[in-house]
Amino acid sequence: MTTLTALGDVTARDFSLDESFARHLDSIDELRHLRGAFAIPPTERGDDSIYLCGNSLGLMPKRTRELMTQELEDWARLGVEGHLHAKTPWYSYHEAFRETGARLVGARPGEVVMMNSLTVNLHLMMVSFFRPSGRRTKILIEDSAFPSDTYAVKTHLATHGLDWRKHLLLAKPRPGEHTLRTDDVVELIATHADELALVLFGGVHFLSGQALDIERITKATHAAGARAGWDLAHAAGNLELKLHDWNVDFACWCSYKYLNSGPGAIAGTFVHERHGGDATLPRYAGWWGNDPSTRFQMQLIPDFVPRAGADGWQVSNPPIMAMVPLRASLELFDSVGMPALRRKSRVLTGYLAWLLRELVPHAGAWEVITPSDAESRGCQLSILLHDRPRDRFRALTERGVICDFREPNVIRIAPTPMYNTFLDVHRFAHVMATLSDRS
Ligand SMILES: *Cc1c(COP(=O)(O)O)cnc(C)c1O
Repeated sequence: MTTLTALGDVTARDFSLDESFARHLDSIDELRHLRGAFAIPPTERGDDSIYLCGNSLGLMPKRTRELMTQELEDWARLGVEGHLHAKTPWYSYHEAFRETGARLVGARPGEVVMMNSLTVNLHLMMVSFFRPSGRRTKILIEDSAFPSDTYAVKTHLATHGLDWRKHLLLAKPRPGEHTLRTDDVVELIATHADELALVLFGGVHFLSGQALDIERITKATHAAGARAGWDLAHAAGNLELKLHDWNVDFACWCSYKYLNSGPGAIAGTFVHERHGGDATLPRYAGWWGNDPSTRFQMQLIPDFVPRAGADGWQVSNPPIMAMVPLRASLELFDSVGMPALRRKSRVLTGYLAWLLRELVPHAGAWEVITPSDAESRGCQLSILLHDRPRDRFRALTERGVICDFREPNVIRIAPTPMYNTFLDVHRFAHVMATLSDRS
């Protein structure tokens, strides 16, 4: 064990049940300094809670407060002049994310814009990229998609006068399985090739934690002549993404989960360069999407001229106070980069999966439904509890674990590489083990 000096070298064969092993991994973790940059919610006794809920609401970077104070002071000191003279001028505030936002998801500068919220952005994207015509009218999503996505998709079908019962296709796992097989998805797309207009999947499924092969499914979608959109709510800040190279048409994500930007944070949207310059795409236009060189001609030039790139999909001027936490957070992501975070994440979640197998006698009481292959998942493991799910969830909470419960019987455990430790994972697995002993 003492020979392990880098997380990148750790394999499942090295894993050990000893707490000293977990502490050793923390000591060789190159990202261990990041935890101190976050506020970790305390338990009632005042210790750090075992916070494994970054899949739902990420923790607050401490620098958020400082940046927020700066904006409030600029507002107090400058009033309207802050648009041009604030430390980060409000007029061009969203451009602060041009580079960091692009690097986060493997995009080129100009392909990403931070605006609105996730479902709103899905709507804006479907206005432009769901263009049913002739026989090509259908949308394919995953079965048990996040409800908001399903509502959004049905809305757009209805807007075009299409009955979702006929025009919405669902990709389902095989009977008895919890996750999709890429081969099945690709085959389904090929089967419906001449009637598909849009394929819209979650990059990581919110409930099962499965990460889909975005590149392959996007390729299959294009081969079918349809457009590929991705909901990256559970993938952004979790997986290493290459949206530009994978040729994704559009993608949307929220920023309050792995991106730690606070409740209801401003979301992100990617529009591929291929489409960014296409002024003929229909869109819900607003003045902030207009070419900045004529934006303040206002009533003098009533015709909308979209700004090139994802910026051209903005509608309103951005809520600066709500953009602040995103800046604090993306600075941290950018300081280390997704490849390093993902390297740690593979080991951290791998260790969790291993501990659960080793420590927790389950005998049919529960099963991990997230794929065991590290490439087919992010940091989250979803545990399906067959036996008294609510009681067990409550018992976890009483022991200082913060995780979440999804009806009727799934708990989601998400050790994030940003601020979670191997000790967190070790402590959690021991709590799970004591619960099983009592049953
Ligand atoms: C979290 C999440 C949402 C939430 O939508 P908001 O518009 O941010 O409220 C939508 N879809 C998926 C897949 C999610 O995981």
